[in-house]
Amino acid sequence: MAIPLCYKACSLVLHSPRNGDLFLCNCKYSYSSTKQGQNDFKLIRGQKLLKDLGTWGIGGPCNYFTQVFDHTQLVSAIRYCNEHSLRFLVIGKGSNCLFCDLGFDGCVILNRIEFVERREKEDGVYKVGSGFGFNRLGVQCSNEGFTGLEFAGGIPGTVGGAIYMNAGANGQETADVVESVDFVTIDGRLQRLERPDLNFVYRSSPFQSMPDLAAIVAVTFWLRSSGTSKTRLQEYLERRKASQPIGERSAGSVFRNPSDLGVSAAELIEKAGLKGLRVGGAMISKVHSNFFINCGGSTSQDMLSLIAIAKEKVDTKFGVQLKEEVLYVHPRGKTKTLWRSDS
Ligand SMILES: Cc1cc2nc3c(=O)[nH]c(=O)nc-3n(C[C@H](O)[C@H](O)[C@H](O)COP(=O)(O)OP(=O)(O)OC[C@H]3O[C@@H](n4cnc5c(N)ncnc54)[C@H](O)[C@@H]3O)c2cc1C
Repeated sequence: MAIPLCYKACSLVLHSPRNGDLFLCNCKYSYSSTKQGQNDFKLIRGQKLLKDLGTWGIGGPCNYFTQVFDHTQLVSAIRYCNEHSLRFLVIGKGSNCLFCDLGFDGCVILNRIEFVERREKEDGVYKVGSGFGFNRLGVQCSNEGFTGLEFAGGIPGTVGGAIYMNAGANGQETADVVESVDFVTIDGRLQRLERPDLNFVYRSSPFQSMPDLAAIVAVTFWLRSSGTSKTRLQEYLERRKASQPIGERSAGSVFRNPSDLGVSAAELIEKAGLKGLRVGGAMISKVHSNFFINCGGSTSQDMLSLIAIAKEKVDTKFGVQLKEEVLYVHPRGKTKTLWRSDS
């Protein structure tokens, strides 16, 4: 059951924007009845390109764009969107998203809530802002002698994105070490879900189907101490360097690995003879067949066509229906605008 966290918000003063304007939204908040302050967030209209917000480097403009640096700004932004009937999409590093060339008809909220707190009396407990880099967290915890997040080294997303996707690699996944998740609902309430109420499965979290989720705000991880975490992190990073197209524009694995087949999506794509296949500026990597590369000027349509071809060929040759891990952000979707072909 979600636990409501003590939280109160009030007073929002807005200035009407013209196209291309940057304008300030003022909000006064009291939080947990101990913290009080003035929070502004800046909203930019009609200028920000989604291709600059994702690792694939693909995507047109969003109508509105803002960055939030703490949860009060996040709630202000969400309330602003609600009050103005704007669709919104909260993103981290955009490293698992395929944005559309048509852009996004709504407000993109870039999550920059970046903090790490260690509990003094409890070794291995880290409370982390959802905008903190997942790679950075994995490196920090492993170097500090804690095991459980070594796999995060090299994953270019945020902690919020890793929770939402239940990111994983090398037999570890985010779900294994999560203690609790703080999130904000669409109507601006701050809530917490504890470990027994969090049902994660392979590359999916309860947040993907939570109708009133607005955004994940912070995550508490509980890690065990280990003398080998640092070495393991290095091994995993080396393995990535050897097996993935480092430095290319990708969104990591395009497809989930099929369950119970004992064969990876990459092997199926490679055995279907698709390595290096190109549609426009999109190409199936020659280094890792489940990584699709923007090798210059790829449109979202190029990438969608390449994905469709890979699915069709693998199905024809092996009778296996691959399912996308990457999420397509529809330009005019509902609040959660993510589409996957299996939904
Ligand atoms: C080179 C490369 C290697 C990768 N390797 C791996 C790997 O080994 N394992 C793996 O699992 N993935 C991997 N990925 C994919 C990706 O990095 C992960 O899925 C990552 O967790 C996504 O985080 P993000 O912050 O970029 O999320 P985004 O792409 O920004 O968002 C993904 C989804 O999460 C939602 N979301 C993001 N933040 C929040 C929030 N705070 N609150 C609510 N919803 C939110 C978004 O709305 C969107 O629906 C890789 C990607 C690349 C480019």
